[in-house]
Amino acid sequence: MAQGQITIRGPQARQICSVLRLQVGDTIAALDGSGCCHIARIGSVTKAEVIAEITDTRPVETEAAVKLTLAQALAKGNKVELVVQKATELGISEMVMFTSERTIVRPDGDRIEARLARWRSIAREAAEQSGRAVIPQLGGPVGFTELLAQIPGFDLALLAFENENSLLLGEAVANAKAGDRILLIVGPEGGFSEKEVSEAVTADAVSVSLGARILRTETAAIAGCAIILHETERECPAKQQELPP
Ligand code: SAM
Repeated sequence: MAQGQITIRGPQARQICSVLRLQVGDTIAALDGSGCCHIARIGSVTKAEVIAEITDTRPVETEAAVKLTLAQALAKGNKVELVVQKATELGISEMVMFTSERTIVRPDGDRIEARLARWRSIAREAAEQSGRAVIPQLGGPVGFTELLAQIPGFDLALLAFENENSLLLGEAVANAKAGDRILLIVGPEGGFSEKEVSEAVTADAVSVSLGARILRTETAAIAGCAIILHETERECPAKQQELPP
């Protein structure tokens, strides 16, 4: 994005030209992935490239009150894709994949790069669809020990544990403040070993329950993010002023 000018190429250019059929002089809203929305007037449009002059730039107030990082154990099939899409819509800031003792899926070099690229594409599309101007960063996969080593960088680290019987997730975030960095760790289909739970608690993670029912890993991740982001959203967000397509 040159000063004052936006150049769009690839599928988004094709969508503007052939699907939306926008023309020279029409106005578009472009989210730059860092929290701003640029209103711009189209100067030239083809299927390959769209160039638009920026006429206004606005901050987009759709981000969550807290910075939530979801640590998701690698899981079979499309479960992680579903979690990436829904957690992005819900408002997470980051996501890190990890492996643990009982993860069934073991990443191999090329395949994991391809999966990360696909997950990042899903995150970008979900951020656009939900009107977010920030696209969550996706990282990993890291090992469980490496994940625990990141805990000091958070204001609150939570380990979703189905055998936890005293602290509900909602209670654990009741005192969270706007701007807090929160980590939610969700285990694989086979869950965490007792040793891993003990290591996480020793590393200052708080074990939390999502209720008396055993949830699938993808359900636990999506429900956990929803609970944290809802409980910490202090007031209804101001309705965003209507933006052009
Ligand atoms: N270990 C159990 C088993 O073998 O059926 C369940 C593991 S569960 C499918 C996968 C992950 O979801 C768990 O590691 C945990 O992080 C999370 N989870 C599922 N139900 C939960 C609950 N009621 N409370 C907290 N976390 C839960």
